[in-house]
Formats: sequence, structure tokens, C-alpha cells
Amino acid sequence: MDFNFTKEQQMLKDMIYKFTDNEVRPQQLIWDKEPGYPDKNWMKTYAELGLLGLAWPEKYGGQGLSYLESVLVMEAIARVSPLASHPIFEANHGPIATIFYYGTEEQREKWIPPVCSGDIIMSVSMTEPDAGSALTDLTTKAVLDGNEYVINGQKRFCTGAGHSEAYLVYVRLTDDKGAKGIGAIVVEKGTPGLSFGPNETFMGWRGFPSGDVIFEDCRVPKENLIVPAGGFSKLMTSFNVERLGNTTMSVAICEGALEEAIKYSQERKAFGKQIVEFQAIQLQLAEMALRTQAAQLLLYRNAVDASQGTLTVLNSSIGKCFANESAKIVTDMAVNIFGGYGFSTEYPVERMHRDAVGWAIAGGTPQMQKINIAASLVGRRFNHRK
Ligand SMILES: Cc1cc2nc3c(=O)[nH]c(=O)nc-3n(C[C@H](O)[C@H](O)[C@H](O)COP(=O)(O)OP(=O)(O)OC[C@H]3O[C@@H](n4cnc5c(N)ncnc54)[C@H](O)[C@@H]3O)c2cc1C
Repeated sequence: MDFNFTKEQQMLKDMIYKFTDNEVRPQQLIWDKEPGYPDKNWMKTYAELGLLGLAWPEKYGGQGLSYLESVLVMEAIARVSPLASHPIFEANHGPIATIFYYGTEEQREKWIPPVCSGDIIMSVSMTEPDAGSALTDLTTKAVLDGNEYVINGQKRFCTGAGHSEAYLVYVRLTDDKGAKGIGAIVVEKGTPGLSFGPNETFMGWRGFPSGDVIFEDCRVPKENLIVPAGGFSKLMTSFNVERLGNTTMSVAICEGALEEAIKYSQERKAFGKQIVEFQAIQLQLAEMALRTQAAQLLLYRNAVDASQGTLTVLNSSIGKCFANESAKIVTDMAVNIFGGYGFSTEYPVERMHRDAVGWAIAGGTPQMQKINIAASLVGRRFNHRK
């Protein structure tokens, strides 16, 4: 077991830390106040640096590296701004992973290169108004009619809604209830019958486009079907890669909050002393570091496993759950260490705290991760409907 990064990984990490401090840091507070998603110029820069296809083979326009590299890059950027890191998350850990693992060669050749070049962003649309944690209750229906699927239904909380050029949509393809009838299909923006609800106003995640995705007799070519009915377990297996990206964001938020707290506690004075000289502050910094490092180790272990195809639901849920809960605790401590200034939008820690809450819910709540963990431990799933 080797805990050292290779020379190339260390160089990549150093380069992205420098890029983040120079390019992203000056933007972070602005983006929170005047929400806006990284624009085409940012996408071009990311594509030129090769960051949008780190994990994908060179033959599809990627860098042919591994998830450890994509995790390191996302982490370096998201410790300052998860928003700036999000296009890299979506490109390396989003629904494109489902296409890579379960699409046909033709589908891989069609969808992966434009993601790597930054020409398109693909979002995932699974959640519905009445199907979130209970995802297998989803009712959005796709019916084959000649050479097209006709889709009807409504999705909720889709990150990228209206902004992304393509959507991997979880749909019910047969009348079978539960997981059995579910598959996934790509729908391109601009397809007649596809529309979007108003942008959600969230407590955090400012700048992230998010909203409902609505299908009214929306016709898509049958070649866009990526996972046919009966493939729900495939969808959940490839979702491990998404959970890994989510874990990265939470770990990065821990790291960012810790960095800010270390700095501030040595600048701020109370009772004539730097506040870091008070043991109460030291204990909080230590607790923050304990959680950050533990979450980081789970993340790196999971990234290596994912690249080797051995990441289990147990481990990906443990990683996500621990990182999500840690990010909430660590950012709460950072706000506390900053005192009144921690509550002020002039400093980034309140934003980190708000963002941490969102990352915990997105991709399945910590409670649902614990349910996955317990089911894996005892080797059986429990029926929540009876
Ligand atoms: C910031 C953000 C980004 C998101 N991005 C996307 C996206 O891009 N695409 C997408 O499809 N979705 C997205 N979502 C939706 C997200 O996946 C769901 O919100 C999440 O899975 C929870 O579903 P729900 O909101 O319907 O809550 P519910 O399922 O209604 O859950 C409510 C509460 O009940 C608990 N609960 C439910 N069932 C059980 C159970 N069996 N046992 C114990 N507790 C239970 C939950 O843990 C939660 O605390 C996003 C959400 C957020 C907040």
C-alpha cells in the first residue's frame, strides 16, 4: 500500500493549486453574490488544460489518466469554489460515466469527445417531485414509437437544467413497477417537447443552474437509449463514480474551511492575544483536521478502487456519508472560529457551510447512504415500502 502520489500526480496537483489561487480565488465571493456558472471561456481553459477528460481514454479525447487525477484536480479547485470545480465534476464524474461503462461504442464515440472538449455539458436527471430517495417510484415514461422514444413526465432539482446541452434522463420504459422498468436515455437541449422550470433558489450552491426538466411528448431517436429497462443496477453501479465526485466536493470544502480557519485564527486577536493561542480554538482546528484527513483518505482509497473497477456501494456510501457529514461539522466550526465575521458574506466560510448542506443532499442523503451501508454489511436489502 503506497500513500504517495506519483511525480506526475504531484505536479498536476501543484499546477492546479496555483491555477486556483490565481484564477479562481479572486472570483469566489463575486460568484456567490452575482450568481453565474463558469462560462464558455472557463470551459475553453479547462478543455485546453485537459481537465474535462482526465479520466477518459485518449481515443475519446480524454487524458487517459484515472479517477485519482480527476479527484485531485476537483479537490484543488473546490476547496476555493465548488462552483468553479463543477464542470470538471460533471465531465469526469457525471452521467458520462454511465455512457462510458454501459453505452455502445457508437454512443461512447458520439458523447464523450464533445464533453472532453467542453462543447457540451451533460447533466443527470433522475429525481422527480414524488421520487427522490425513493427513486424507483419514478414515473417519467418513455414509449417506443417507430424509431423514436416519446417521453412524458417531470423531473426535479436537475443541476444544469436549462444550461446543459444534454441530459441523461432516468425513465420508465415498461409497465413493470419499481426498479425493473427503469432505464436511461439521452435528451438533447432544443428537442421539441423539452422545457425547463424556473431556476431554484437554494440556500447554497449559488450560481448553479437548477430546476425542473419537463417532457411533453418529447421525441428522441431510439439510438439515444443508453440503458434499457432492467438496467437499474447498472445505473446505480455507475452512480458510484458520481458519489465519488460528490465526496470530493465535500472533502474539498473541509479543506477550504480548515485553510481559512488556520489563517484567520492567527490573524484575529481577542484579549490581546491571537485567538489560536486559546485551547478552545486549537481543539476545533484539530477536530477539523481529523475529519478532513479521514475523509480524504476514504476519498483517495475510493478513487483508486473506482479506477480499478472495484469500488463497492459499501465503500462509496461510507466515503460520501463521512465526507458530507464532516463538511457540515467542519464548516460549522470554521464559522464559529470566525465569530461574527464567520456569519458575514465578506468571508467565504458561511458560503462553504451553505454549500456543504447541498452536497450532502445531492446524490442521496447521508441517511440513505447509511441505509446502503447497513444493507451491504448484512448482505440484504430491506423493503421500505412494507
Ligand atoms: C443541491 C442539490 C443538487 C441536486 N442535483 C440533482 C441532479 O443533478 N439530478 C437529480 O436527479 N437530482 C438532484 N438532486 C436531488 C437529490 O438527489 C434529492 O433531493 C435527494 O435524493 C433527496 O430526495 P428528496 O429531496 O425527494 O427527499 P426525500 O426523499 O423526500 O427525503 C426527505 C427526508 O426523508 C429521508 N428518508 C427518505 N426515505 C427514507 C428511508 N427509507 N429511511 C430513512 N430516511 C428516509 C431522507 O433522508 C430525507 O431526510 C439535487 C438536490 C440538491 C439539494
